[in-house]
Amino acid sequence: MPELPEVEVVRRGLDKFVVGRRIESVQVLHPRAIRRHEAGAADFAARLTGRTIDGTRRRGKYLWLPVGDDALLAHLGMSGQLLVGPPDVPVSPHVRVRFTFDDGGPDLRFTDQRTFGHLLVAADGALLPPVIAHIAPDPLEDAFDLARLTARMRARKTGIKRALLDQSLVSGVGNIYADEALWRVKLHWARATDRLRRSQIADLMAAVAGVFGEALKDGGTSFDSLYVDVNGESGYFDRSLNVYGRASEPCRRCGALIRRDPFMNRSSYSCPVCQPRPRSGRW
Ligand SMILES: [Zn+2]
Repeated sequence: MPELPEVEVVRRGLDKFVVGRRIESVQVLHPRAIRRHEAGAADFAARLTGRTIDGTRRRGKYLWLPVGDDALLAHLGMSGQLLVGPPDVPVSPHVRVRFTFDDGGPDLRFTDQRTFGHLLVAADGALLPPVIAHIAPDPLEDAFDLARLTARMRARKTGIKRALLDQSLVSGVGNIYADEALWRVKLHWARATDRLRRSQIADLMAAVAGVFGEALKDGGTSFDSLYVDVNGESGYFDRSLNVYGRASEPCRRCGALIRRDPFMNRSSYSCPVCQPRPRSGRW
């Protein structure tokens, strides 16, 4: 699953290549890609054709392109890609939606092998699409409020990693970057949020922002050739991961062997020495 840095890499690419351009045509090649646009393919195309893309925005793992008061909202799911390229390149079988522009320049293709991603037009969604208004700000947004997040986390009876992954508390943090940030501040993933000090939560969120910043510099993490920027290039932050995916390899801080625990149908990676298991944690 792409996380915030991978989506931000895509947003920056779109900002460079599609902003200020007028959409000439919209071809929906697979209806599943617009399944959340309830009015259907013809309506989706009609609402975008002839509109100019005014900018790019992102909250957590969602990104959107404002067009006037409305917005084209994208969620990449497991394997979605937004690729910008020459319009004369043949359309591959995984292209779900294709946008051409009236300047005749590079077109935009939503490609999605596993079809978990989706696009929709959000009416009056230029500033924040109503369908994602329930998602909390992410740590890189101006709207992110550490004091509010800290109070909400400490009022919950849950484990810290579960809280980090809860998009109604804070958005954009997934399994990979949660494990990396927890390792940096030496917190076990099952630590009870109501027993954490304010300073521990502040340090953790600073670590999340730090990991995000470093991952962005490397173009994101690519566990899979499907995580690519708008030009189809993969990032290389996976080389810098300290715990995620490193089960039984030595901790880069203390040398103990990284352990992997099952967690919410996935895995949690941590160092048994740097991140001791709490006596009464919450999963
Ligand atoms: Zn360690």
